[in-house]
Amino acid sequence: MKQKILILGAGFAGMWAALSAARLTSMHQRSDIDIVVLAPQPELRVRPRFYEQKVETLVSPLLPLFNVTGVKFVQGEAQRIDAEAKCVWYRNAQNESTVEHYDRLVLATGSHLRRDLVKGAAEHAFDLDQLETALRLEQHINQLGQQPDGPARDTVVVCGGGFTGIEVATELPHRLRQILGEGSAPRVIVVERGDVIGGRWSEELRDVIRQACDELGVEWRLGAEIAEVNEQGILLAEGELIESNTVIWTVGVQANGLTEQLAAQRDAQGRLHVNEFLQVPGYDDIFATGDVARAATDDKGNVALMTCQHAIMLGRFVGHNAACSLLNLEPLTYRQVNYVTCLDLGNWGAVYSEGWEQEVKLTRGEAKKLKLSITSELIYPPKADRQIAFETADPLAAFV
Ligand SMILES: Cc1cc2nc3c(=O)[nH]c(=O)nc-3n(C[C@H](O)[C@H](O)[C@H](O)COP(=O)(O)OP(=O)(O)OC[C@H]3O[C@@H](n4cnc5c(N)ncnc54)[C@H](O)[C@@H]3O)c2cc1C
Repeated sequence: MKQKILILGAGFAGMWAALSAARLTSMHQRSDIDIVVLAPQPELRVRPRFYEQKVETLVSPLLPLFNVTGVKFVQGEAQRIDAEAKCVWYRNAQNESTVEHYDRLVLATGSHLRRDLVKGAAEHAFDLDQLETALRLEQHINQLGQQPDGPARDTVVVCGGGFTGIEVATELPHRLRQILGEGSAPRVIVVERGDVIGGRWSEELRDVIRQACDELGVEWRLGAEIAEVNEQGILLAEGELIESNTVIWTVGVQANGLTEQLAAQRDAQGRLHVNEFLQVPGYDDIFATGDVARAATDDKGNVALMTCQHAIMLGRFVGHNAACSLLNLEPLTYRQVNYVTCLDLGNWGAVYSEGWEQEVKLTRGEAKKLKLSITSELIYPPKADRQIAFETADPLAAFV
């Protein structure tokens, strides 16, 4: 009877897990092992680009790639993991409850933004977390020109000064001027609880971000606590109201809720602690990867971040190791020593740093060129060609 590796999620981690598992089983000529991806859509949604325009184009179809590599796709949304019975209950495309059994399970269902952290954020704020919500924000921005002018129309408030907040904030001044007219004076205000810009990042990186924001006219409200988002804008804890029709929420990323169904340790973001082979302790046949996994990247105490940089490599390792465990091969220890940061800074350019110390290597146009090659090539799925796909899915092949 055939065995099955079931992968939940077709994002960066899930897609690479499938290709990597298919690579190893094919190398060992094991056509008795099925690799099955279960996800709502057979497409990779390129979340790191959701602050850009034309959001609807930021998807890449996966069926041609899965077809040439022998990966099976099942459309649906997983609802319940029954680890004892080794099966996953899911809603299929017809919204019926049905079940898929597994021999090895890979949880790769990603993350979502928490919008319940501040009163009114869920009802009144926009976000760029998922394709649908990013589309809604883009449509809203595109029709701002039709709204009556005034401070609420002309002000965008970005809640949170993390990487996502900065990328969208620095992208907007130019876009807003195009929409509201060259003579307009749009304001983009980043509201941040910390007392400095990017408090956890290197001084060098912070300086570049500060300079770019100054030149672009992006304002920062530091040490500011948001008490409420409402129909008029945001209310700060100190009582000030910043009027805005466009409040963008970027704070509080949380691992997908399926992680809660396993009796295993999770971190503050809900990620499952995994061992060096990306298995969930206590469940020999369950692995976690990408944004749902808290994995050590080296022996120095660094841990994978919720980034596609890490999700891609975590995916390649997890697929390999899930296949190893069915093939009785020695698994590989997940290691990803190199870490880089490449942050888009709108019309100013970008900034690129290397290492966990974030040593700045490139800025402005040079960094922007690199950013574009990362976001429009490097993180995209490989060509639908079996040999190329398997070569790139090798967890030991060079990445960054
Ligand atoms: C606006 C924004 C900007 C970002 N910028 C960067 C950046 O510059 N650099 C960077 O490295 N990272 C960036 N990231 C983070 C990066 O996108 C994530 O870390 C990455 O997508 C994680 O990959 P993943 O495969 O774990 O999850 P995802 O890519 O989110 O994929 C999850 C998959 O699981 C599926 N799924 C969800 N629930 C279920 C279910 N119940 N059943 C079955 N399938 C399910 C989804 O449909 C999807 O296919 C950014 C993210 C956002 C939102």
